[in-house]
Amino acid sequence: MTLTILNPATEQRLAQLERAGVEETDAAVAAARAAFPAWRKVAPTDRARLLRRLATLVEDNHEELARLESRNVGKPISGARGEIGMVAQVFHYYAGAVDKHYGETIPVAGGVDMTFREPLGVVGLIVPWNFPLNIASWKLGPALACANTVVLKPAELTPLTAIRLGDLALEAGFPEGVVNVVVGRGSVVGQRLIEHPDVAKIGFTGSTEVGQEVMRGAAGTVKRVTLELGGKSANVVFADADLEKAAAAAPYSVFDNAGQDCCARSRILVERSVYDRFAGLLVEATRGVKVGDPEDEATEMGPLVSAAHRDTVASFVEGAPMFQGEVPDGPGFWFPCTLVEASNDDRIAREEVFGPVAALIPFSDEAEAVAIANDTPYGLSGSIWTRDGARALRVARALETGVLSVNSNSSVRVSTPFGGFKESGFGRELGMHALQSYSEVKNVFISTEE
Ligand code: NDP
Repeated sequence: MTLTILNPATEQRLAQLERAGVEETDAAVAAARAAFPAWRKVAPTDRARLLRRLATLVEDNHEELARLESRNVGKPISGARGEIGMVAQVFHYYAGAVDKHYGETIPVAGGVDMTFREPLGVVGLIVPWNFPLNIASWKLGPALACANTVVLKPAELTPLTAIRLGDLALEAGFPEGVVNVVVGRGSVVGQRLIEHPDVAKIGFTGSTEVGQEVMRGAAGTVKRVTLELGGKSANVVFADADLEKAAAAAPYSVFDNAGQDCCARSRILVERSVYDRFAGLLVEATRGVKVGDPEDEATEMGPLVSAAHRDTVASFVEGAPMFQGEVPDGPGFWFPCTLVEASNDDRIAREEVFGPVAALIPFSDEAEAVAIANDTPYGLSGSIWTRDGARALRVARALETGVLSVNSNSSVRVSTPFGGFKESGFGRELGMHALQSYSEVKNVFISTEE
């Protein structure tokens, strides 16, 4: 069965691949299992060296990988370059983390008690199409640093950079079988990884619906899972904020990656006393977002990933929006930047759109802002804009969400934990926190009695 890969900006064919099935998945798991005993014995400094080499190879091939990602996802080349830069940083970081992740000794009677951080074995990594190589690296880095072997399943829409990374891992010197990439349907390859008795853990990023499938499927073998799922994050703008700065930044916190971002601040909550002024500033800032050819250096927003996804996104916009931008004519899965006024009960404010559509919602005071922001099944990220430091901390503590920024909309850093509350999932990626979910704690007691 062949798989055709398209460029979403041109609808032209980029590649034609063979689709893997259950047999190929089983073969990849068998290869990963066979490679594990030797891989876990590799000295930590050598494991670190391999990760460092992979990071350097990503840097050496930076432009090629960025172009590939840009063409396959339809994302602007400037953003793709940033993402590939982060992939290299992630591997550098986990190269440095290999020998800083260790056990402890615990005072007990009659002997010595110590803990070890053991690898899990074969881990299955299932990643989405919005930040393909970036999200893959967040899982590969800690998984390999902890001496696991991996089977990576990229999304069928966007497998090209993952395939290339598999080659680079071999070039870096990772032994055969340590890093395996399998391209095929989620419902076939993904499902098999979830149920396979020789896979110890699934690291998953994607929709909450499939996340639930992962949990259900993993129950059969009591697999470990970490889930990074959807979001419906709030960007809370108080009247005392630097409104110009907040309004200038807000479009990029929703329309970046054409809104196909689990951290998108797609609910913009604005204190009623400054609502009209902020709305005017926001419309002007949104008008300035440069939408067009992803290969153009100046482009800030490209198309959506597929025709089907464009239909889903369009279904969210009912009635006349407050503002809707322009998109190029001709081929490509384009959808314009769209601002709508909403109540938090509207569908647009409750469901993850995963497209360039933001809902503006007014609030009266701090208590109502917190109540609205928390009135969602999700809890991934969010922002607070205020000049009042005490309020910023108060609200940050009150929000039920995993990653917050104050007077900023950035969520992700290589060295800091990333992940969700509530139905946005559990487990943390990035930073030293990620190592906890790719290792098992073993406790050993040694008697010192004579
Ligand atoms: P999915 O959750 O379906 O896809 C994510 C990954 O899971 C892909 O690799 C996919 O494979 C795989 N997958 C799909 N079904 C299964 C299954 N039954 N068992 C195992 N793996 C599976 O997301 P979509 O691509 O369909 O996007 C739908 C919505 O999900 C978006 O509109 C958005 O709301 C949300 N989403 C959230 C993301 C996030 O970053 N948190 C990322 C992507 C989507 P394949 O696609 O190859 O079949």
